[in-house]
Amino acid sequence: MGSFIFTAMKRFHLPLMLAGAIAFGACSEQPQEVKDDMPETTNPLLSEWTGPYGGVPAFDEMNVADVQSAIEQGMEMHLAEIDAIANNEDAPTFENTIEEMERAGAALDHAFTYYGIYSANMSTPEFRDVQSELAPKISEYSTKITQNKKLFARIKAVYEQSQREPLEADQQRVVNLIYKRFEMNGAELDAEKKARYAEISKELSSLYNDFSNNVLHDEEGYITYLTEDQLGGLSEDFIKSAAEIASANGKEGMYAITNTRSSMDPFLTYSTERELRKQVWTNYYSRGDKGDEYDNNEIIAKILRLRKERVGLMGYDNYAEWRLQNRMAKNPENAMGLMEAVWPAAIARVAEEVADMQALADEEGGSITIEPWDYRYYAEKVRKAKYDLNSDEVKQYLQLDKLTEAMHYVAGELFDFDFTPVEEGTVPVFHPDVKVWEVTHKNTGENVGLWYLDPYARPGKRSGAWATTYRSYTTFDGKKNVLASNNSNFIEPAPGEALLVSWDDATTFFHEFGHALHFFASNVKYPTLNSGVRDYTEFQSQLLERWLATDRVIENFLVHQETGEPMPAELVAKIKKAATFNQGFSTTEYLASAIMDMKLHLADPEGIDIDAFERNTLEELNMPSELPMRHRTPHFGHVFSGEGYATAYYGYMWADVLTSDASEAFAEAPNGFYDKELADKAVKYLFAPRNAIDPAEAYRLFRGRDAKIDALMRDRGFPVPSNG
Ligand SMILES: [Zn+2]
Repeated sequence: MGSFIFTAMKRFHLPLMLAGAIAFGACSEQPQEVKDDMPETTNPLLSEWTGPYGGVPAFDEMNVADVQSAIEQGMEMHLAEIDAIANNEDAPTFENTIEEMERAGAALDHAFTYYGIYSANMSTPEFRDVQSELAPKISEYSTKITQNKKLFARIKAVYEQSQREPLEADQQRVVNLIYKRFEMNGAELDAEKKARYAEISKELSSLYNDFSNNVLHDEEGYITYLTEDQLGGLSEDFIKSAAEIASANGKEGMYAITNTRSSMDPFLTYSTERELRKQVWTNYYSRGDKGDEYDNNEIIAKILRLRKERVGLMGYDNYAEWRLQNRMAKNPENAMGLMEAVWPAAIARVAEEVADMQALADEEGGSITIEPWDYRYYAEKVRKAKYDLNSDEVKQYLQLDKLTEAMHYVAGELFDFDFTPVEEGTVPVFHPDVKVWEVTHKNTGENVGLWYLDPYARPGKRSGAWATTYRSYTTFDGKKNVLASNNSNFIEPAPGEALLVSWDDATTFFHEFGHALHFFASNVKYPTLNSGVRDYTEFQSQLLERWLATDRVIENFLVHQETGEPMPAELVAKIKKAATFNQGFSTTEYLASAIMDMKLHLADPEGIDIDAFERNTLEELNMPSELPMRHRTPHFGHVFSGEGYATAYYGYMWADVLTSDASEAFAEAPNGFYDKELADKAVKYLFAPRNAIDPAEAYRLFRGRDAKIDALMRDRGFPVPSNG
């Protein structure tokens, strides 16, 4: 669910990540002796959480006016705690340095929970002003911690001591992760290099901002307006929303195709107007690449030079090598190796897809050759002809309430979790739409936590679906239960009517619930061990998607909204058969971007011509001319509007290799996807340890070997390489 994650990083998790990278204490309570030194505060958003279930966020007491001062005071309090740790006169130990760091920042974490709700679920223009005010302050706060010399000296002393006398496994992992994080952020540098490092970071952050603004300019500035006679092929819903957008832009009676993926994609899939498809396609894929003042090519070259210079200060050859060292892939060669192994099959499949589409176009007459703006349109026609899958028929079996029950059933079978609705009014919620369940262990009845579900779209809520936590599991300071939430944008049905969703949306619903189960299953002692590894954390959620199409879920929960009959076997078969459709297109467009991301960061950026580099790289790859990269370089926001996905876009496929391979383990187990023994192993090694075990090691413990790409190739309908 790439786009969801990306948005999450940009608008919601980024501040949390900044803080999270430093304010490890995701949820620990404020120790009294430290609190006494803190500035006096009466801000309710910094308060301890009280009430049932180990304390819950006071969502009924929050308001925008308190957020800014809560974050500012929270940062101040955290910095004071950090200073106290750094200035401790006792010799540094795990307990007085690392454990105290894990404990610090609790009040700030509370404030960030409310901040997160306003930014993702309940945004307003008033709150967006607060966000812009806070962004530079949060960044400054974060630098103050990474550049705290005394603090790092203590961390380093604990780390070096642990190299002579190893700590307990999980403590050792915490020390390693924290030491590495500081080191990677320049903590080891001398004063001169530190100053240059800070200068580069500052310059980069303004280049990221320019990059995003240029893309935004080209998205907002190139809307295609249609007249009534140009709507051929488009659905009623699409036309209705296009009319609304046009009228909001002062073009009453016309229809707006905005220059964004959510508008471009359906337009290119359904519009019968070939010239307009070409125009919309060209607008979209030339964002940031128009040779005007909003062109991003020179900005990208600068970003690449600065990134290389910054990691060079720390002795690294290139940015990719620096970035991947604590990822599951470990180094750029491993990531490239995977992508290059899949690439030939993907482009070979494109050739077959194009041949199918060309045959269909020829049958229609009109002598056209398939061009990039034709791909989606003819692919849709081939899909209808080959698979005869009616998405409206499928929807009749996908009711949101039943899907929720299905997920709870799966969680019960695999994780031994029970979900019981919490009586309304006992736990505060930020909107009446939000429902809460208590999660308990089936056998012991012990409380695991609370599951919050915010299912419906509303103004101010960001698009897509996501999962998050308000409190994570830890035991080092007394056992804390988990408060996790799932969020989606379904349209609320009329009272008494079932909410019917598409197969894709049902899959996403399971996906996000997989993230929640990953939170609930945690058994780590320290907050830092709950952290995610970019090319690994999508694996657990992708894996859970696979239970949607299991027999027990289909028979008991995918039932017709009127007749209550389970989805017929023929329909299930059609869905499964259609799953590999158009994999040439989607794998190739994704991989072209992922390979480009890596190659750009491995190249020498001195005097680089981005446009020529992209062209030459695609030529070397034998990129099929009938489709573009999913994100062309001049608007590749994952990589150039920040650092979240720089040399990390490969991560989706990396995680998918694990997903396919682990799914086959279940498919082959004696009791299939409900095999208790294998499920226990999955919970024990893949879910519960979070980041307490090296991901590669965790996977080997589950599977008895490393993941192979064969299963991914089979899932996508590609031939499996004979040497495996
Ligand atoms: Zn996800």
